[in-house]
Amino acid sequence: MRFVVDGMLGKLARWLRISGHDVVYSNDLRRSDDESILELALREDRILITSDVGLYKRCKKHRARCVLLRSEGTVNQLVELSRFLGRPIPVDFESSRCPECNGELVEIGAEEVRNHVPESIAQRYESFWRCTGCGKVYWEGSHWRSIIKTVNEYKRRIKSAELG
Ligand SMILES: [Zn+2]
Repeated sequence: MRFVVDGMLGKLARWLRISGHDVVYSNDLRRSDDESILELALREDRILITSDVGLYKRCKKHRARCVLLRSEGTVNQLVELSRFLGRPIPVDFESSRCPECNGELVEIGAEEVRNHVPESIAQRYESFWRCTGCGKVYWEGSHWRSIIKTVNEYKRRIKSAELG
């Protein structure tokens, strides 16, 4: 599944990228007016996720695939998105993408790690990944624990909603 996520939903866009999905975030586009977003969704066959009723209606009119999210908070939005898709959203950390730019991540070796992160971090963690797009380096630090927490909360909710 590939998505284009509208401006108000930046946190959701990051979560989907980390979970392994190819996500264009409208705020990263050079042109992010409704027309351009819609055109991109159609051209690249992406599901448009928005909380903007106007954009949603335009999208429907052009027969693009789109989801209107009304809830707030990442977990609630994920549950709402799953309901729309009729199935749980796959989570695959093996194919995580860069939350900043949607680039693909590659694992890097200890030597390269030392050029990019402080020594204390290099010693503390085992695995590191570098974004092939923006070059940012990632490891399973404290932000990672909060992502796992969101995933678990989402799975629990999905299970009780009998979508899982
Ligand atoms: Zn990146």
